Amino acid sequence: MGFDAFIGNSKLIERLRNKLREDRFPHGLVFAGPEGVGKHTCALMTAKALNCTVAGPADFCDSCVSCNKINAGTHSDVMTISVEEEASQIKIAQIRQILSTLSFQPLEGRNKIFIIDPANLMNQEASNALLKGLEEPPENSFFILIAVNVHELLLTVRSRCQVYHFSPLTLDEIRGHGIQDEFLVRWSQGSIGKARSLDAERLKARREVLLGFLEAAAGANDADFREMLAASADIAGSKQDFGTDMAVLAVLIRDLLFLSEGIPEQVINIDVEARFRELAARLSSERLIQMAGFLRVIEGSVKGNINRQILFDVMGLITSES
Ligand SMILES: [Zn+2]
Repeated sequence: MGFDAFIGNSKLIERLRNKLREDRFPHGLVFAGPEGVGKHTCALMTAKALNCTVAGPADFCDSCVSCNKINAGTHSDVMTISVEEEASQIKIAQIRQILSTLSFQPLEGRNKIFIIDPANLMNQEASNALLKGLEEPPENSFFILIAVNVHELLLTVRSRCQVYHFSPLTLDEIRGHGIQDEFLVRWSQGSIGKARSLDAERLKARREVLLGFLEAAAGANDADFREMLAASADIAGSKQDFGTDMAVLAVLIRDLLFLSEGIPEQVINIDVEARFRELAARLSSERLIQMAGFLRVIEGSVKGNINRQILFDVMGLITSES
């Protein structure tokens, strides 16, 4: 089992393997793309290929001592640098520590691999320190920087790296990972990490509340409007669910937009599509785009202490004006 076991992004994997076959594998790599599509897994696979004692240069066996140690996280030449507990950023001391090992030969393998994940959380000093390592890397040292958005990395850092852009997985690729619940397959939005961590029952329950909210708001006359405000209070009152609610609402609005634009194959909530069609027919695309814009405002203010009740009331008003 080697790179063939990696599901999705097959062209990217092929490009990476071609590089591994060449003599000069880039010393700095950036793996960029959404959460949960296999960037870290691919970084570990690359580390295995660079150190495997059995398989050829562009693959790994996944069962030799070297591969096993990398899988167990105990290989002395393969290190993941991440945000330390109770810290919010990767600090310069962590980067200095790995740079101090650069002049030494690998301890047990052929190559040293430093995986920095998430690389966008390196603070300015840490990024600048890393530059030194990227400028004059020893023959057998490789850096793999992982980030959702490559533009969050310093330009000077990313310009010294070869960038690989990971895409979300297709529905079939998510199924290929063994996800059988079609609701989760679609709600994962191409992230296998999300498909594995989502709680389908909780999600369905919140969706029901929010869909009810949108339905009430879309058809609000005076009497309905009171009902809508009650629903809004219900949503805003449950603090615990607020983050989930924002994510669910974003998906609902996304689906409504796809339906109103006549692209039903993109719809995630196919199990309640009839209700969505009815709702979409009552809301103009323009209004939906406004709602999506408003959602971003809400997301931006979640961290601040803005009154959630007011936000939902305003959302209700936008919806009912269409
Ligand atoms: Zn191996």
